[in-house]
Amino acid sequence: MKYELLKTEGKAKRGRFHTVHGTIETPVFMNVGTVAAIKGAVSTDDLREIKCQVELSNTYHLHVRTGDKLIKELGGLHKFMAWDRPILTDSGGFQVFSLAGIRKIKEEGVTFNSHIDGRKIFMGPEESMQIQSNLGSTIAMAFDECPPALAERKYVEDSVARTTRWLYRCKEEMDRLNSLPDTINKEQLLFGINQGAVYNDIRIEHAKRISELDLPGYAVGGLAVGESHEQMYDVLDHVVPYLPQNKPTYLMGVGTPANILEAVERGVDFFDCVYPSRNGRHGHVYTNHGKLNLFNQKFEKDMRPIEEGCGCPTCRTYSRAYVRHLLKAKEMLGMRLCVLHNLYFYNTMMEEIRNSLDAGEFASYKARKLATMEAGE
Ligand SMILES: [Zn+2]
Repeated sequence: MKYELLKTEGKAKRGRFHTVHGTIETPVFMNVGTVAAIKGAVSTDDLREIKCQVELSNTYHLHVRTGDKLIKELGGLHKFMAWDRPILTDSGGFQVFSLAGIRKIKEEGVTFNSHIDGRKIFMGPEESMQIQSNLGSTIAMAFDECPPALAERKYVEDSVARTTRWLYRCKEEMDRLNSLPDTINKEQLLFGINQGAVYNDIRIEHAKRISELDLPGYAVGGLAVGESHEQMYDVLDHVVPYLPQNKPTYLMGVGTPANILEAVERGVDFFDCVYPSRNGRHGHVYTNHGKLNLFNQKFEKDMRPIEEGCGCPTCRTYSRAYVRHLLKAKEMLGMRLCVLHNLYFYNTMMEEIRNSLDAGEFASYKARKLATMEAGE
């Protein structure tokens, strides 16, 4: 058994996911290291200190720069970046469809141009699995198309049907790769991805179809791409009940602390998002009393830490005034300190969520957390 469902409160799940690289306590926030590093000069030693359980790396980025074949030759991503805990790699699909100079979508896969040097690349389900196998991540994501949230129904239907066919090919290829003698992680796990934009009936049918494959986990993809928060919550209300409860449920690319609390309540237990690192690099820091912009003049003489009582490496030592000074002076340390604090804030919130679920008090924890964040300083 890979996933233990330890406790539930309403639809919310408290779980434990066992992998070859260690156990993941859920709900969990995965820390996004696009090119095998969190942007903002954050090392894997830092990740251990800020309570990161799972690092997430981007297949597309690593494929186009440095290359997965070289990383395999060097012993795989874990060895390359000196991180022995779980790593999730995305499929490359999202970047191929959003970043790259696309593109032709065919049944076999997608042809696109690298955003680095313009070179023509082909990626389909088999290629995505091969790249992720070369990287040797703990969890590999299925290759899918993420249609725009507001795409027309007919487009979404055709796209989702193809994504289903691609999922079967992903599984077959992953099984083959895991059985090869020189594969780095022969226990690599494949998660399927539910799509269907904001059409709940398409999403429900798709969720039923992909659940038949009995994969070790399932994601809800294609959200936080332009629809409203209410639409996103509505999709989760409808679709999560059709994904297996005894497997991890991963909401891709979401979100704000409030989004995460709402999604946990709806049965999601894996998350990832660039917000904490991206906002940190811009001097926007999360606290239990709302988000602060450290560029603001009012922090010029503020010798308090970003958050009183925060145990992160930044707050243990440095003041708002100093971090503000570093940001204004464009010193790299300023960004780094903000990113460390923000990731620690997210990882700590997930720990609080798990503790509240253990105690059967998630509902009151959520209400309290939202109220204090809303109230501000
Ligand atoms: Zn802090």
